[in-house]
Amino acid sequence: MSDEKFKMESRTFVLKHELPVSRVEKYWKGLEDGKIYGTVCKSCGAKFSPPQADCSYCYSNDMEWVEVGEEGEIEAFTQLYTHPQGFEFAGKPYVIAVARFGDFKVMGWFEDSDDALPTIGQKVKARTKQDETGVWKVYFTPA
Ligand SMILES: [Zn+2]
Repeated sequence: MSDEKFKMESRTFVLKHELPVSRVEKYWKGLEDGKIYGTVCKSCGAKFSPPQADCSYCYSNDMEWVEVGEEGEIEAFTQLYTHPQGFEFAGKPYVIAVARFGDFKVMGWFEDSDDALPTIGQKVKARTKQDETGVWKVYFTPA
């Protein structure tokens, strides 16, 4: 018996899902206004960015919205050479970083005019803008 019989033609698989954002809509609206919000649990003090409507530590839904601030410090980053579906617009390798803004850790796209990689501890400024597909995102640039 030949293995040829068990081969299938490959097909493109598209997975599309809707994110339930109604309870964190303030975050997405904030990005349009240049603001980055997090949430603080009023019950146990846990802080979340991106914000969560419910505390994953004590399960309270009593949350306070706060702005995370404009200047942070790089804690981690990765440079991506592959472009997952939906990120084809990036074209060249891009850098995703996590920066600490006070008590919040914020994830964003790192941009440097010289295409330099960030360094751990580097001070960065955060801003928001639309990407090429119209989605609002957080971007970091050297401070
Ligand atoms: Zn809590």
